[in-house]
Amino acid sequence: MGLKNYISDIYNGVKSLITGMKVTGHYFTHPGEIVTQQYPENRDTLKMFERFRGEVVLIHDENNMHKCTGCSACELACPNGSIEIISGKEIDPETGKSTKIIDTFVYHLSMCTFCNLCILSCPTDAIKMAQGFEHSVFDRSKLTKVLNKPGSKIMPGIK
Ligand code: SF4
Ligand code: SF4
Repeated sequence: MGLKNYISDIYNGVKSLITGMKVTGHYFTHPGEIVTQQYPENRDTLKMFERFRGEVVLIHDENNMHKCTGCSACELACPNGSIEIISGKEIDPETGKSTKIIDTFVYHLSMCTFCNLCILSCPTDAIKMAQGFEHSVFDRSKLTKVLNKPGSKIMPGIK
């Protein structure tokens, strides 16, 4: 390394240090301006950014109905097997034909990388990313969740 490069590196290092210290110095001398989030004290008022991806959820309405047909597109789209769709059959009262329905929607939160591919692949917009982020547990098996609520049914007209 030439002397010129050596001096230039020192100059750039000192310059970046001073730039960083300027920000630190500002907040050190203005204690009223808090820029950090006071977590967990702010739990009640904490609002995450809209784009934040905390976990996959199956959307249910107030009548415990969802839009999941059990088509498995999300399971196929997931790159690491975080979703398992166990489907069943039901007789359609209108046509008398046997139709596929979701039996159990298994989601392994511990494996999920929050890539959003499952959400994008769902043809009925049945799932979405929710913003919950406090997922710490002592027992890893608790991170395997069933997303369809007990007794829930598919909304009429969703195929
Ligand atoms: S967000 Fe990505 S990793 Fe997580 S379940 Fe969906 S597809 Fe799989
Ligand atoms: S969530 Fe969507 S993609 Fe996944 S099985 Fe249900 S309908 Fe298909």
